[in-house]
This record gives sequence, structure tokens and C-alpha cells, in this order.
Amino acid sequence: MREKTVERYDVVVIGGGAGGMTAGVYAGRARLNTLLIEKSLMGGLATYTNEIENFPGFPEGTTGLGLMELFHKQLKKFDVKIKMTDVKSVDFSGEWKKVETFRTTYESRVVIIATGGRPRITKAPGEKEFLFDKGISFCATCDAAANTGKTVMVIGSGDAAIEEGTFLTKFATKVIVSVIHDTGKMDCNEIAREAALQNPKMEFKWNTMVDSFKGNGRLEHVVLKNLKTGEFDPVPVDTCFEFIGYEPNTEFLNGSLPLTKRGYIETNEMMETSIPGVFAVGDVREKELKQVATAVGDGATAGYMAERYIADSEMFEKQILQKERIGLIYVYSAIDAPSRELLPLMQEIENEFDGKVKLNVLDLYKGKRLCDRLSCDVEPMTIFYTKEGEVVEMSTECAKPQVVSRLKSLVA
Ligand SMILES: Cc1cc2nc3c(=O)[nH]c(=O)nc-3n(C[C@H](O)[C@H](O)[C@H](O)COP(=O)(O)OP(=O)(O)OC[C@H]3O[C@@H](n4cnc5c(N)ncnc54)[C@H](O)[C@@H]3O)c2cc1C
Repeated sequence: MREKTVERYDVVVIGGGAGGMTAGVYAGRARLNTLLIEKSLMGGLATYTNEIENFPGFPEGTTGLGLMELFHKQLKKFDVKIKMTDVKSVDFSGEWKKVETFRTTYESRVVIIATGGRPRITKAPGEKEFLFDKGISFCATCDAAANTGKTVMVIGSGDAAIEEGTFLTKFATKVIVSVIHDTGKMDCNEIAREAALQNPKMEFKWNTMVDSFKGNGRLEHVVLKNLKTGEFDPVPVDTCFEFIGYEPNTEFLNGSLPLTKRGYIETNEMMETSIPGVFAVGDVREKELKQVATAVGDGATAGYMAERYIADSEMFEKQILQKERIGLIYVYSAIDAPSRELLPLMQEIENEFDGKVKLNVLDLYKGKRLCDRLSCDVEPMTIFYTKEGEVVEMSTECAKPQVVSRLKSLVA
């Protein structure tokens, strides 16, 4: 078998949707050597929608594809490398995180996961036979024109189902909508609901769910079951569009990160996951509002944080835990007088050791991320480490005799 090649980057972004591309723009613009990996289509899920009316800056609205093309153009401007391939697995155990594709292992200081979600399916009998090009679609933009003059079904009543269903009436003769709720009740916003109810091309099948999909090589009937009467209704259709929510694309993580019950990635507001240097953005995160605008905000934050993380790492390795002298780190707080007043004393101690000891001072609040790396959350604190960079003691005892005595034992 051919040996895998290994490539190193500062930042690897997995996923080329709105979130991933924005993270790429920020990381690339910060002059970080950045790679973005996309497995199918640059632009992600936003390219599925014909009309985006709520992304700021486009008062007349825009198409999902058009908007994503602009993102892509901007990404290329900042020298972000793009590879069209599928990420199979990851390994976040080392300092250099590994991202595995079929031919290459990418090693990176920072990984930003932006793999979004995929449409949920009904799991009704017969469905797998007709997925994508055989009569079941998840993308009105992609398949509307092919259904000109035809009869289509839409499954679902959320924003995507009703808005895309309304768009489909521009092409299809009839759009039959299967809704699980009672007459008139939908999960979408009120404006979309009103417009749909008044659209003469839309017909609603209330209190129904899909029982099965039937056809011969291509979808011919969607059999609906009425949840109130128990009756079955085989509805002849040319295409069935399913809009019943999404599932996160997190399988490739294979236990490398803890996931929520629903399979999403939990982050804090800085997009940090529980593993330092691993961030998650966009629809793959556990969050309330999954939209282009929120994916963009997440991506901007993660791109910025990637730069901060790398700068901190370099400072930590080269300065804070330098390997030329015995180290003393003094953690204090600029707003706490007693700990601040010990600063000259620490300086005095460093001088007394005549070049054999290196002192670094950290403000617990301004240097919080560096203190976190030392697992230090109280001040004042003295931290002692060897020439090999190994922390041997952390102590809240900061009096001169104790500090001097500890340093003497390390220098000896
Ligand atoms: C029909 C529809 C209508 C919508 N309408 C609107 C709207 O009007 N306004 C709005 O703001 N939002 C809308 N949205 C939501 C919006 O599209 C998403 O919130 C947004 O696309 C999320 O971006 P993302 O970058 O997080 O993920 P995605 O866009 O899902 O991108 C993730 C990318 O990661 C790639 N990927 C996944 N796994 C891997 C892997 N293992 N290796 C490599 N690449 C991988 C995928 O191929 C994909 O390109 C709509 C969505 C749909 C489906």
C-alpha cells in the first residue's frame, strides 16, 4: 500500500460551508498557513436554498449559491489552500493534531470543525431506493426546474419546508404538503404560513406522515398515513422533497471529542471545545439558531481565536517555559495590591541568582489563557520548573525565604 504523505499547517478547517469559509478568511488574513478541506461542494447547505433574504448586506435578497460564491472568492484572496476530499478520522491526542484523509495525514496546531449537518430522512420503507436522483430530493434549488409542469410533494412544515415549497410552485403545477399537525397548524414563521395557505398551487394533507415510498426504479407514489383516521393514501408524485430537519456530521470524530446526546459539538462562546486548539463552528455546534449569519459569527470568532491560540502556544513554549535556565513564574493580579507589591521582591530574587534563574510574571486576568495552561486559577502563586520545562511545584507560599530555598534546591 502507498505510504500516506504528511503535510503541516497552522490551521486546518474541516468543511467549506459559510462557517468554515469565514474561519478560513480570518485565519488566512492573519497570515496563518491555513488549509480548508471540503468533501463535496464549496458553500455547503446554503447552496441548497434559492433565496436568502435574512443575510445582512443584501437588501434585495440573494441566492444561496451566489452568496457562497462570494465567500469562496474572498477565501481565495487570502491564500487559503483548499483540498476537495473527505476527512475520514482525526486524532487530537498530541500537540500536533492529526486530520486523516485517504492519501494524506494533515498535522496542525489548530483544527476548526465546520462540518455542518445533513438533511434528516423519514426512514420509511422504500426510501433508500429512491434517494437523490430517483425521486427523493432535499434541495429545491437543485431540482425545481426539472419538475416544471409536474406534481411534487413536500414533507414537513418548518421554515425550510414551507419557504422551499412556495418556491417550488413557480415550477411545479401542484405542490402537495404533508403536515403532521392539525389543519392550519405549521412549524414555520407566520408570514410563510399565510403565503402558503393562500397559494392556489399548494395543497395540504393535514395530520399525515409518510408510511412508505413506492415505485419501479423511480419514485411513483408516496403513501401517507392519516394519524387520526389510520387511513392510507397513496399519492402519485414525480418528486418528493423532504425538509424535516438535520443531523450533525460528526461521525468522523469517532470519540475524539465529547458530543451532546443529539450528536452535536459543545463549545463555549469562543468556539473552544474541551480540547485546547480544537474549535467548532456553525451548524455542527449545539446552538439555538442555525443560519448563515450565525455560522459567519462563529467562523470569525474561531479564526481569531486560532491566531490567539498559536501566539499563546509560541509564547508559552519559548518564553514562559523557556529551557535555558531554572524557571520561576509569579502569578499575580494587577488589581490586588498585596500580590502586586510582591513584584519587586520577585525581581530581586531573580537578580540574586545571578543569571541562573529566569523569572516570568503573569497577570491572572490579562494572561488568563496562559494561566489556564498552567492549571493556575489563584493568585499570588509561585510556579517552579526545571531546565527541561517540567513544572515541579506550584505554591501559594510567596515569602522570600521559601522561594529562595526552593530555587536553591533546583539550581544545586
Ligand atoms: C433548504 C435550506 C434553506 C435555508 N435557508 C436559509 C436562509 O434563508 N437563511 C439562512 O441564514 N440560513 C438558511 N439555511 C441554513 C444555512 O444553510 C446553514 O445554517 C449554514 O449553511 C450552516 O453553515 P455551516 O458552515 O455550519 O455548515 P454547512 O453549510 O452544512 O457546511 C458544512 C460543509 O462541511 C462539509 N463536510 C461535512 N463532513 C465533512 C468531512 N468529513 N470532510 C470534509 N468536509 C465535510 C460538507 O460537505 C459541507 O459543505 C437554509 C438551509 C437549508 C438546507
